[in-house]
Amino acid sequence: MFKKLLLVALCISGTLSAQDYFLEKYKPFNTEIPSPEQFLGYGIGEHHTRHDLIVAYLTKLAEVSERASIYEYGKTHEGRKLVILTITTPENLQNLDNIKEQHLAFTDPSKSVSNYNDVPIFINLAYNVHGNEPSSSEAALLAAYTFVASDSPEISKYLNNSIIMVDPTINPDGRDRHTQYANMYQGSPLVADPQDAEHNEYWPRGRTNHYWFDLNRDWLLGINPESRGKLTWYHEWYPNVVTDFHEMGSQSSYFFEPMKVNASQDPIMPKENYEDLNNLFGDYFASALDSIGSFYFTKEVFDGTYPGYGSSYPDLQGGLGLLFEQASSRGHKQKTKFGEITFPFTIRNQFTSSITTVRAAVENKGMLRKYQQDFFKSALGNASRSKIRGYIFKDDYDKNREKAFIDKLLLHKIDVYKSGNQFVVPTNQPQYRMVQTMFETYSKYRDSVYYDASAWSVANFYNMKYKPVTSLNKGEKITTTADLVKTSTVKKTDYAYIINYDDYNATTALNYLQQNEIVVSSSFKPFTTTTNKGLTTFNYGTLVIPVSLQKKGSDDVFKLVQKAQQKFQVDVHSVNSGYSNKGIDLGSRYVSPITKPKAMMLIGDGVRSYEAGEVWHLLDTRVHMPITKIPMRNFNRANMDKYNTLVMVSGNYNLNKKQREKIKTWVSKGNTLITIGSASKWVINKKLVNEKLTEGAKKDSSEIAERKPYVDAGENIGKESVGGAIFKVDLDLTHPLAFGYRDTQIPVYKNNSVWLAPSKNEYATVAKYTQNPHIDGFITKKNKEEFLKPSASLVVSKVGRGRVVLFADNPNFRGSWYGTNRLFLNALFLGDKIRIPE
Ligand SMILES: [Zn+2]
Repeated sequence: MFKKLLLVALCISGTLSAQDYFLEKYKPFNTEIPSPEQFLGYGIGEHHTRHDLIVAYLTKLAEVSERASIYEYGKTHEGRKLVILTITTPENLQNLDNIKEQHLAFTDPSKSVSNYNDVPIFINLAYNVHGNEPSSSEAALLAAYTFVASDSPEISKYLNNSIIMVDPTINPDGRDRHTQYANMYQGSPLVADPQDAEHNEYWPRGRTNHYWFDLNRDWLLGINPESRGKLTWYHEWYPNVVTDFHEMGSQSSYFFEPMKVNASQDPIMPKENYEDLNNLFGDYFASALDSIGSFYFTKEVFDGTYPGYGSSYPDLQGGLGLLFEQASSRGHKQKTKFGEITFPFTIRNQFTSSITTVRAAVENKGMLRKYQQDFFKSALGNASRSKIRGYIFKDDYDKNREKAFIDKLLLHKIDVYKSGNQFVVPTNQPQYRMVQTMFETYSKYRDSVYYDASAWSVANFYNMKYKPVTSLNKGEKITTTADLVKTSTVKKTDYAYIINYDDYNATTALNYLQQNEIVVSSSFKPFTTTTNKGLTTFNYGTLVIPVSLQKKGSDDVFKLVQKAQQKFQVDVHSVNSGYSNKGIDLGSRYVSPITKPKAMMLIGDGVRSYEAGEVWHLLDTRVHMPITKIPMRNFNRANMDKYNTLVMVSGNYNLNKKQREKIKTWVSKGNTLITIGSASKWVINKKLVNEKLTEGAKKDSSEIAERKPYVDAGENIGKESVGGAIFKVDLDLTHPLAFGYRDTQIPVYKNNSVWLAPSKNEYATVAKYTQNPHIDGFITKKNKEEFLKPSASLVVSKVGRGRVVLFADNPNFRGSWYGTNRLFLNALFLGDKIRIPE
C-alpha cells in the first residue's frame, strides 16, 4: 500500500515538475484532473499538438470537471471541429442561462441596468488564427487546465467573477498543416540552426486555412466556415474581452497593445477603447511579463483600423480586442540574434498573457461592462446626430449578388428592411457602427502607412448601388435570406431555353449544364423576343440552349435546365421560335457555343498563395468547377495540351526561357492565359505579350535629391505602396469580359503597383480607371495622378491564335469581391471567344 502510494506520488511530482516552468504559480491542482502532459503523453512544448488532440483534451476536461462545458460552433473545410470550452465555477455554469441574460442586457441600448459589478465578466480567450503561429494553442491547453484544475485562491477569484470561453484553435486546418511539418522535421537533439528544414516551412505554409485564406481578415467578410461559425457564436455572447494571439518573425521579442498611435484612432470608435482600455490592460501585461523576465514592445507597429481582424472586430461590438505577437521559435528551438528561442518559452509568454487577460478583466469588470453598455447606447446617439437616416440599395438584375450582400449584413446582426423593391438599412440601430463600416467611404486619413487595407466599404465589394437617405420608409424586416430570390419554374420547350446572364449564379448554372454535356451558347449582341414570360429584352452575354441541337433528348435537356434553375435560382425563359422582335435572331452567328473550360493554375514556390486560393475557392465553392493545380516543380513535365485555360496569379515566377516558350507556344495555339496582378506585369516584362506598363513622370537624373530625416524613411517609402483601396473603372459593356454587367462604372480593389498601359489596340482595353477614380481608401497624389489615372485595369492581348487576359487588379480579392468575380469568370468561360481586330 505504502509502496503504491509512494509510486503515485513520485509519478505525479515527476510529471508536475516538467510543467512547473508554466504552472508552479497556480498550485495546488486537483489531481483527479489530467494535466495536458498526462493526457498527451508528452510535456507542453516538447512537440506541436495536433488539433484533434486539443479537442480531445478539452472534451476530457468538460467530462471530468463541473467547472467546464464544451460547445462545437462549426467545422472547417477539412471537417475539423471548432470548439469553445466554457469555464467558470460550477455554480456559475449551472446558472449560465440566467447570467447570460443579465450580461446581454448591457448590450441592449433599450435597457437601463446598472448592476455592473454583480455579473461575471465574459472573456473569450481565442488562439491560433494563423496556423503556423503555434505557441498560442499550446498555451490554450495550459490555460484551460489551470482554470479547470487549479485550486489556488487567485484562480478561484477569477472563476467567481468571470465566464471564460476558450477557443483553442481558430484555424485548425492551417494549424495541423504546420503541426505535421514541425513535428516531421524535429531532431533529437533539437537543431537550432535557422537553416534547418524545421525552421523553413514550405508552400503554402500553415498560416492560412484550407483555401489559403487569411482568417484574420475574414471577420468582416465572413466568407469561410471558421469565421461564419465564430460570428454566429459571437453575436450570441458578446464577450467583453477577446484575445487574438499571434507570432511574428523570430528576430524580435513580444508585442501587446496599445498599437501604433495614429492609425488606431478609428473615427467611428469611442476613444476610450484605444486611449483608456488599451493602456489600462497594457500595464497588466507589462508587469506580468516583467515578472518572468520577458522583453516586449508596444505602440510602434500594427494598427487596428481594418475591422476584419480578430483584435478589431470585438472593438466594434463594445468589447476589447487584444492583439499579442510573440517572436516565433518556428520549430522547437531556434537560434536568433537575441539568443535561442525555445517553443516552451514562447508558450509561456502566451500563457502568461492569457491568465493576465483574465486578471485584468476581472479586476475591471464593472468598468468594462459600463463601457459595453455605453458603446451600444452611443451608437444610437451617434446615429441620431447624423443627417443620414439610412442607406437604400437594390440591384434590378442580379438577385443572387444582392442576396449575398444581405446575407453579410445579417451575419453582423445589422437590421435590414424591404420596402417595395428596395432594401433599407436604417442608421438608428445598435449595430450603427457596423452599418458605417459596410457603407461609409473615406477620403481623408490620419495615417498613410497601413498594416493592411485602408478601404473596407463592403457594399462596394458587392458592387451594390446604394445611397444614403435623409428620410426613410422601413417596410418589412428581413430575418432570413432563404426566400429572397424568387424565380419562376421553367416551362418545357422543344426549341430553346434562354438564361439571363445578369445573375451572379448564371456562370454556376452554365458550368452545371456544361458538366452535363449540354451545349450552351452566348449571345454577343442583345435581342428582344417573346418568351413564355412575355416580350423580353436580353442583354449581352445571354445564354441560349438550343434544344434540337443537343445530343440529349428534349426531356433530358428540360430536366437538366429545370435542375439548374432550381439549384441556382436563375431566371430561365422558354421560347418556341428563333425569330426576334428586335436585334439578332437565335440562329445568328453572334450566338456562339461556349467551349467548356478546362482550367489549370500554377501553384507552389513563388506563387502568391492567397490569390491562388481565392481562384480555387471561387471555382470550388461557388461555380463547382474543378481546376487542376499544377505545382511549379512539375511544370516541365506537365502536359498543357489537356487544358484550354491557364491561370497565373501574382507571384515571383522563376521560369526560364524554355519554360516561358512552353507557355507562349501553348497560348499561340488558341488557348487563354489569365494573369492577375504581378503576373500581368511579368508577362509584359518577359515579352510574352506586346503590351506596356505605365511609366509615370520622367525623373531628371541630374537632379540632387532633397534631404529628409533618416528616421522618416520607413513611413515615406511605405505610403507609396497601395495597401488596398477602391477605385472606379469604366467598363466596355459590349466586350465578352464585361458580359453580365449593366453599369459602365464599377468599383475594383487595388492593392498592388501593377499599372497597365491601355492597349494600343482600340478594342482591347476592357476596363480603364476613370478620371475621378477614388471611391475609398488611401493613395498618394503621385500614385493617383502619374500612375492610376492613365492606366488600364483590364486588357486583352493577342498572342498567335490565343490571347492573354491581363488583370491589373485582383477580381477575386478575399473571396468577397462578388462585384468583380464575373470579370474573371468571363475570362474563363468566354476567353476563347474574344476576337481582337487587327
Ligand atoms: Zn499572425
